Amino acid sequence: MADPRLACPPLAPPPVRPSLNDQPSHFILLEREVEQESRPQILERLQQKVDAVAEEAHAVSPLCPQCARPMGYPDTHPVSWLARWGSLPASVSRYRCRRCKRERQPLLDLLGVEPGRICGSLARWLALLAAVAPYELAARLANLLLGVNLNAMAVWRVAQRVGQAAASYRDALS
Ligand SMILES: [Zn+2]
Repeated sequence: MADPRLACPPLAPPPVRPSLNDQPSHFILLEREVEQESRPQILERLQQKVDAVAEEAHAVSPLCPQCARPMGYPDTHPVSWLARWGSLPASVSRYRCRRCKRERQPLLDLLGVEPGRICGSLARWLALLAAVAPYELAARLANLLLGVNLNAMAVWRVAQRVGQAAASYRDALS
C-alpha cells in the first residue's frame, strides 16, 4: 500500500484577486475628514518654515560654482510650487556671475523644489504610485490616500521627471 505521507495534498482553491472597494470604510472617511480639516493649518505652518529658510537664504550671497567668487546682481522674482498640502509661494533671489555667466537661485537649491512643479513628498508618492499602477489608477489612489485632486497627465509628468532624474543619476554613476 502507498505511503500516505507521499500522497498529494488536496488542491487549494485559487486565491481571490484583491480589488479596491468603491466605498471606503467609515474609519477611512473619518481619517480623511480630519486630514482635510487640518490642511489649512499644516499649509500655514509649512509656509512659515519656508519663509524662514527664504529669509536666511536672502542674507547670504552664494559663490559661483565655477570660479568660486561671490555672485552678485541679484534680482528677486515670485515662484510657487505644489505640495501635498497646497500651493506654496516664495520670493526667490537669482544671482549671477558676470565672468562665467552662471546663475544660481540658492533658495530653490536649499529647499530642493522646482518652480511651477509638484514637489516634495507629493512628487515621491506620485512617482511611487505610478510605478505600481497605470496613471489613471495612480491618480485615483492619490486622491483616496493623499487627498489631492490630480489627473493622470499630472501623475505622468511627475513620473517622467522623477524617472528621468533617476536615469541620469544611474548614467552618471556608470
Ligand atoms: Zn564665476
